[in-house]
Amino acid sequence: MEYVILAVVIAVVVLGAISGLVVSGRKKKQLPPPPPATPQPSVTAPPAEPHVGEEAEAPSDEERRTVEDVTLPTAEAPAAEAPAAEPEAPAAPPVEVPEPTAGRLVRLRARLSRSQNTLGKGLLNLLSREHLDEDTWEEVEDTLLTADVGVAPTQELVERLRERVKVLGTRTPDDLRELLREELLTLIGPDLDRTVHTANGIGNGGDEIPGVVMVVGVNGTGKTTTTGKLARVLVADGKSVVLGAADTFRAAAADQLQTWGERVGARTVRGPEGGDPASIAFDAVKEGIAEAADVVLIDTAGRLHTKTGLMDELGKVKRVVEKHGPVGEVLLVLDATTGQNGLVQARVFAEVVDITGVVLTKLDGTAKGGIIIAVQRELGVPVKLVGLGEGADDLAPFEPKAFVDALIGD
Ligand code: GDP
Repeated sequence: MEYVILAVVIAVVVLGAISGLVVSGRKKKQLPPPPPATPQPSVTAPPAEPHVGEEAEAPSDEERRTVEDVTLPTAEAPAAEAPAAEPEAPAAPPVEVPEPTAGRLVRLRARLSRSQNTLGKGLLNLLSREHLDEDTWEEVEDTLLTADVGVAPTQELVERLRERVKVLGTRTPDDLRELLREELLTLIGPDLDRTVHTANGIGNGGDEIPGVVMVVGVNGTGKTTTTGKLARVLVADGKSVVLGAADTFRAAAADQLQTWGERVGARTVRGPEGGDPASIAFDAVKEGIAEAADVVLIDTAGRLHTKTGLMDELGKVKRVVEKHGPVGEVLLVLDATTGQNGLVQARVFAEVVDITGVVLTKLDGTAKGGIIIAVQRELGVPVKLVGLGEGADDLAPFEPKAFVDALIGD
């Protein structure tokens, strides 16, 4: 009997020991190797400032998942019972894919023709009159002036139209449309180089640096919005972009620009409110070089109404950026609805900084599309982009032919 009890006790002890081993063994298996005790958010929360090109790098999602798996080992177990339990890390905001830029003006043409009809249709109606007397030609002139074409270009156009109508003799509506199309196109300059120059430059150290574009203009013209939309245009064309928020005067400008950037995965370099715009611009290009970005877009402040102040500030921004290398493009943003005022602004800016291209915004809200002709004459630089609405992809490369077609119909 004693032997039996002893045997039972031994058996219990042995069994207990074995099961303990198994349990502890299982426990060991269940425990993953302890993660490095680092705080996760810095690893898993890049969305505040996503890297350029993140949208194109499929592995980045993959990487994020791997990081979560490793650093959050307990998330697996409850997930089996409660699938609603989400991983704690905030998801990166979805990076948008902007619309392709080719043919944007054609797509947005309806907005143009709605506001510009008065010009094209008005001219066609006048030219279709049976008798083209002096009064009619004066009306033609007035129509052009009302559309902000400007005095000198208006006189040139009227002159040419008079000659050609005389030569034409009988006028069918189609003849007139064709004639007007040709003359307006000539006036706008179909052969001007309207490319936004964003190609890499050679830095002062001899290495390639990103293309640098400065965006200037009076606040309220749509400058920051245009910088953001231009980032989308470039991303749509396959380029990586860094934004420099050097408009430190308008409180919301940096936030506004950063939001535009985040939507397409472009980093925004910014500084304190009221900070030195030139140093932000400098840092933005430095960041662009570090990231090997294709283009750096710099939004600047346009608050200054005295020429000296403006010259000091914009000149300094440009000079400081040029410590890295060349500025490829200086775009002046003008509000098409401001007419003569806009032209005065254009003149002042052109005197303080070398403008290489014009962006005409709010063309959707005006019948004064003739300002394209006037501003090109005034500055001797082409209109390169036009804003046709508040939508994210409502900035279009300017195509003279599509524009004229919109004015007078096909
Ligand atoms: P900034 O002070 O020059 O930087 O001006 P913002 O970029 O903040 O733009 C001023 C306002 O103009 C905003 O409400 C924009 O949405 C609007 N805006 C900009 N471009 C266009 C455009 O092409 N069409 C229309 N309708 N509105 C525009």
